[in-house]
This record gives sequence, C-alpha cells and structure tokens, in this order.
Amino acid sequence: MASEQNVFAIPNIPTPSMPVIFDPKVCKGCNNCVEVCPIDVFIPNPRKGAPPIILHAEECWYCGCCVDDCPSPGAVQFNWPLPLKPRWKNKESGEVRQLR
Ligand code: SF4
Ligand code: SF4
Repeated sequence: MASEQNVFAIPNIPTPSMPVIFDPKVCKGCNNCVEVCPIDVFIPNPRKGAPPIILHAEECWYCGCCVDDCPSPGAVQFNWPLPLKPRWKNKESGEVRQLR
C-alpha cells in the first residue's frame, strides 16, 4: 500500500546568509546549479521555472560550479562575504576595483 509523506525544508533563519544571488528575470529554473553544487546548498523550487531555494547557505565553498555551469549568464552571481571582498586602489588614478 502506497503512503504519502510530506517533506519540509526550512532555511537557516537565525543566521541567514546569501552566498549567491539569483536573478529571477534571467533564471529559467533549469536546476543545473542544484545538480552541480557539491554540497547541496540549494533545493529545486517547487514553482516551475523559479530560481532554486538556498537552503544551506553557510555550507557554500564559493567553488563557482553553480555560476560556471549556469546556461543563463547573469542568472546566478556570487555574493562574497565581507572578508572576501578585497579592494584594490590604483594610487595614480584613484580607481577602486573590487572582486565580484
Ligand atoms: S541559476 Fe542558472 S543553473 Fe540555476 S536554475 Fe537558474 S538558470 Fe538554471
Ligand atoms: S559556489 Fe559551489 S558550494 Fe557554493 S552554492 Fe555554488 S556550487 Fe554550491
């Protein structure tokens, strides 16, 4: 006899972080990023075509697989944490450059 089970996934609400940012206007919801992430940071969105849900944000290694394997450029981008946001200032021009 088949039984039905509900599964609940709850993001980390007390210490939320956002290792990547999805652009819902560009993301097609193909879930490539869900598949390639080595530590399952995301789960598929139950809404078809919507960006995946970030479930285990703190576990992100910033390995880049999700960004590199996305077929829709700009759909997912890194959101580096503050300690990983070095800036360089050109002493002559004053131009400030930042890792993206
Ligand atoms: S971010 Fe890219 S790889 Fe991930 S679901 Fe959206 S389109 Fe697919
Ligand atoms: S950067 Fe790597 S570890 Fe982090 S969400 Fe993307 S694929 Fe997963």
